[in-house]
Amino acid sequence: MDFSLDFIEIIKKSQKVVILTGAGVSRESGLDTFRDAGGYWSKYNPYELASPQGFRANPLLVWQWYQARKIIASQAEPNPGHNAIAEMENYFPEFYLFTQNVDRLHHRAGSKKVHELHGTIFESHCFDCGLPYPQDFEIGETLATIPRCPECNGYVRPSVVWFGESLPYEALSMAYQKSQSCDLFLTIGTSSEVYPAANLPHQAIYGGAYVMEINPNETSFTRDSNLSIRQKSGEILPEILRIIKEIKVK
Ligand SMILES: [Zn+2]
Repeated sequence: MDFSLDFIEIIKKSQKVVILTGAGVSRESGLDTFRDAGGYWSKYNPYELASPQGFRANPLLVWQWYQARKIIASQAEPNPGHNAIAEMENYFPEFYLFTQNVDRLHHRAGSKKVHELHGTIFESHCFDCGLPYPQDFEIGETLATIPRCPECNGYVRPSVVWFGESLPYEALSMAYQKSQSCDLFLTIGTSSEVYPAANLPHQAIYGGAYVMEINPNETSFTRDSNLSIRQKSGEILPEILRIIKEIKVK
């Protein structure tokens, strides 16, 4: 792709960069939240598997799903889009990556400045009191295999944000603040329909940033973006990285 001189100029001038990533980036690594594991879990309603009510009703089912997702995510590999994002953080004085993905692929690609807006499937905490539960464990066929909180005896749960729950306050307020004050904002592989993350590119526009969208499909944000590239992130981000490397000093 040939980038416009305007875009190259924007990259040259940008000091503060914010990137927001969503499910599309993980999908290019073969991960698809509710269709994983050969479709076995697609017979369940997402609310049964990913809400506090669903966990209360059937914690074993919820844990078995998360355990399957952990295995699938561990076997997946970061794609060229993850890798390009990880390298980009070296070229800007300020760089923040906010992700809605819970699979840790950004970390595995080498990103150090990642903030997980929806938590991660690789950590756990107490459902009742919130105490982190750092030990490893394996879920079997019975309720007794779900670990209990050492403080209050509540069930341990995955540290992800479920339907009906708030996003972690610190990560979210930082995301708002950095979006409002950045020069360049990239929204990548996100449908722009899940709030409050979908607000972030709008915050960047209000703050005067140049906002670029990368998504194979049109989204509700497309018309508001300064530039929308309908391509897979794994194809276009390495090209953007190449331009950054040509004009920026590490
Ligand atoms: Zn507890």
